[in-house]
Amino acid sequence: MKKIDPNRVAPVHKSGFVAVVGKPNVGKSTLVNAYVGAKVAIVSPKPQTTRRIIRGILTRPDAQIIFVDTPGIHKPQHRLGKAMVEAASSVLSEVDVVIFLVDGSRLPDEDDKRIGEMLQLRCRAPVLLALNKMDRLKAENIESVTEAYWAIAKHADWMRISATRKDNLDKLFDQVVARLPEGPELYPSDQVTDQNLQVMASELIREQVLIETRQEVPHSVAVAIDEWEDRSEAMTHISATIYVERDSQKGIIIGAGGAMLKKIGQNARAEIEQWVGHQVYLELWVKVWDKWRERSNSLRELGLTSE
Ligand code: GDP
Ligand code: MG
Repeated sequence: MKKIDPNRVAPVHKSGFVAVVGKPNVGKSTLVNAYVGAKVAIVSPKPQTTRRIIRGILTRPDAQIIFVDTPGIHKPQHRLGKAMVEAASSVLSEVDVVIFLVDGSRLPDEDDKRIGEMLQLRCRAPVLLALNKMDRLKAENIESVTEAYWAIAKHADWMRISATRKDNLDKLFDQVVARLPEGPELYPSDQVTDQNLQVMASELIREQVLIETRQEVPHSVAVAIDEWEDRSEAMTHISATIYVERDSQKGIIIGAGGAMLKKIGQNARAEIEQWVGHQVYLELWVKVWDKWRERSNSLRELGLTSE
């Protein structure tokens, strides 16, 4: 048996909110999912996959981190874009640490520079610059890429990581914890997200649409859960609508003889069942909602803005 050291200081417990900020497609959702160990944010190779601010919760004996997965910051092109940018910027005033995530396999572009400037102007929290996708960085480019990112985030400490290979994620985590305030657990330790199951389900359906469709369709899709009924302890009945903006997109999603919709439904159902923990019956509808992205009432109804 180990002797108890009377001089031992009780370990400090830390907790706080950590924003993951960066332009679309740099790997923000992949990083949060890797830390949380579950799929709390959907991931796809297409930009603008993330439209909501999602919290992933990671609890360890010494610390609890609540990750805020922001929508990609980009130039607003239409109303949805503007709502996303506002959501991302407002997060910055409420967090304890910011991870500025960039695609470290290539040089920064104007968007990275703009985000670097915005962080310098608007963010009082410490910023950690994480150069992601190091698995793709060519040896001859290491110096030029690193220096170019230094130049746009001079105030930040930095580190190279790979979210998909989980390289250096422990080190980045330690750096985050070092910058967190002391505090208790803010959520139960077995909770991985503050999103409710219905939001998760709609995102999992949207994820399958993104995986299966090309070009303009992914940007035009929104999913609403219309009915959610636990018919027994072992079976939940869900009815959901996939909204698109044009008839042609509706045709694509339904597919020849309904094959595409069937595939989307089967895959989404399997994912939702993992979250719900039992059998799910999923009924999917596809509807055209002309220019839903331009209308503030539709955005509000779909929960994409608080406007
Ligand atoms: P987000 O838009 O910033 O949330 O980016 P996602 O997490 O959706 O990732 C965008 C794409 O980059 C996906 O195809 C990921 O698999 C890929 N990705 C993310 N991290 C890495 C990484 O460390 N290395 C490589 N090679 N790809 C990555
Ligand atoms: Mg994302």
